[in-house]
Amino acid sequence: MSAILTLNAGSSSLKFSVYQMEGDTPLVTGKVDSIGPNGVLSLKTANGAITPADGSLVNHSDALATVLKSLKLTLEDREIAVVGHRVVHGGLNYDKPALINETLIEELTALEPFAPLHQPHNLAGIRAAQAAFPQAAQVACFDTAFHRHHPYVNDTFALPRSYYDKGVRRYGFHGLSYDYISRKLAEVAPTLAAGRVAIAHLGNGASMCAVHNGKSVASTMGFSALDGLPMGTRCGQLDAGVVLYLMQQEGMSADEIETMLYTRSGLLGLSGISNDMRTLERSDAPEAAQAIDYFIFRAQREVGAMAAAMGGIDALVFSGGIGENSATIRARICERMAWMGIEIDHSRNDDNAQVISSEMARTTVMVIPTNEELVIARAARAFA
Ligand code: AMP
Repeated sequence: MSAILTLNAGSSSLKFSVYQMEGDTPLVTGKVDSIGPNGVLSLKTANGAITPADGSLVNHSDALATVLKSLKLTLEDREIAVVGHRVVHGGLNYDKPALINETLIEELTALEPFAPLHQPHNLAGIRAAQAAFPQAAQVACFDTAFHRHHPYVNDTFALPRSYYDKGVRRYGFHGLSYDYISRKLAEVAPTLAAGRVAIAHLGNGASMCAVHNGKSVASTMGFSALDGLPMGTRCGQLDAGVVLYLMQQEGMSADEIETMLYTRSGLLGLSGISNDMRTLERSDAPEAAQAIDYFIFRAQREVGAMAAAMGGIDALVFSGGIGENSATIRARICERMAWMGIEIDHSRNDDNAQVISSEMARTTVMVIPTNEELVIARAARAFA
């Protein structure tokens, strides 16, 4: 029997799942967390957790080899007919998933400097899957694709024009998540989905997207996955002058700045304690409270920005690890937004209900758990 494998290779994690050729329930889901000396591989089937094969998890290629070995044992006689890959950057040309061939791999390799912490891992995943499943079709699903038709003012920076032509643009990311949530919204609330919706994907990576009638018109993330909201370890919006200062006055190299902005900033940098929202919520340290306050304030600002991009707002949707699970953070973000018709029903919010706004509120507030794997699986299935 044939099956679909999805691979989502992040900077320090590797998520995967196996789906049948029909249906939306995965046969197997799994994840390698904290790739490195403390890497952990977990694997689940519909019947519960299973023991993965032995193997190293110290780097991405070892982790992938161990995952593939575990999957081969778990899947027994099932044959992988198609592999869907999350690819963070599709550049200017891709507004939908694409079948992978050598030409596409070359194009995606040329985009590595645009997403240095993600794209190389995505490409390594593609190579490893080609070697492990040579008979399978390989499909690239791009995080940028959902945003590819932004109006010019949301696609450009105010730099000399030649940089726009070279591809220095506001691409936007988390597109697979926004794609899933928009489609889900069209199923559960079609009238809202046809209107103006701000989606807040709040996880370890965080961004917001303005979706008007199912189409992305603006995103808080821009050229790289650094811009917009503060994240677990990424800074979010930053005055370019700060980067100049760090180089010219502090003598930091580009690599040192990159490491700081991607891995030592955001909630971790502000709190000095953790990148994990749960840890910060439990902490009594004033620095933890300040980090959360900053996160809340920037999220409120960006909901306003997304509404401005659409000329108003009909719905606000929360998603991602924080957006799906933290009633406190959701309530605090919505606290000062009555002027936008946003008003929370606290008991629904505490229950993580799908609709958490009060009956009388002008703007509907919802919680929709995201499912990037399913978006990849559905896209890959079309190429099988
Ligand atoms: P993600 O990257 O989408 O898996 O989200 C990870 C983030 O979600 C981390 O900051 C977690 O602390 C946060 N998170 C997960 N569950 C909760 C929860 N119950 N309350 C607050 N934050 C949570």
